[in-house]
Amino acid sequence: MIRSITQQKSIEEIERLTDGMGRIFIIGCGTCVTLTRTGGAPEVAAMQQQLTEKGKVVTGTTVVPVACDNLTMDMLKEFQNPLKQADGLLIMTCAFGVQTIARQISKMVIPALDTLFVGKETGAGEFNEVCLQCGTCIIGETGGICPVTTCHKGLVNGPCGGTNNGKCEIDSNKDCAWTLIYNRLKDLGRLDAMRKYQKPRNHLGEPTPGKFKIPASA
Ligand code: SF4
Ligand code: SF4
Repeated sequence: MIRSITQQKSIEEIERLTDGMGRIFIIGCGTCVTLTRTGGAPEVAAMQQQLTEKGKVVTGTTVVPVACDNLTMDMLKEFQNPLKQADGLLIMTCAFGVQTIARQISKMVIPALDTLFVGKETGAGEFNEVCLQCGTCIIGETGGICPVTTCHKGLVNGPCGGTNNGKCEIDSNKDCAWTLIYNRLKDLGRLDAMRKYQKPRNHLGEPTPGKFKIPASA
């Protein structure tokens, strides 16, 4: 399962971002941030209490099922009045949810979370970043293991000089990405793929911001 991985901003930062806003409406999300316990129902309730103690009026709260879905606007229709009364919306979702709501409601939005990465669940309650969407996917030559995200230095042409007994020099608890890749290719009988030189990434070929349009069918 792929999730948006987030962490809560400090209450001091949230106070600074909501400075001058006396009335706040809080929105959480029932998907990724509920799982990571950064923006589900308990966290929304705790935030409501913290803001109330800081002297703010919380005009309402809700936890929408999937904040990044365009149907969120329909979910929020039943909160028209408390939304209207609020000076700002404190949104306890990943940045995708914040931007979805910001595009549909004419109110200042304040993200209560920092969005860290898109992660895959690799164990109970554990998430790893598995793809940076680098635009030049090379895992067809690395046995399906991404060196861009698995190697601390993002090296794509073999290990650095610091790999030590199969462990990474930056985090000795972590396997070196290139040991994992070597072992995987060896098991697959494809060590020849290690010899492929990966050219420097063509950053000019990846315009920012990224845009994609579904091609018209013939
Ligand atoms: S090489 Fe890694 S970061 Fe780049 S697209 Fe492939 S999986 Fe994603
Ligand atoms: S030891 Fe391995 S994983 Fe760590 S930075 Fe060097 S090549 Fe990357």
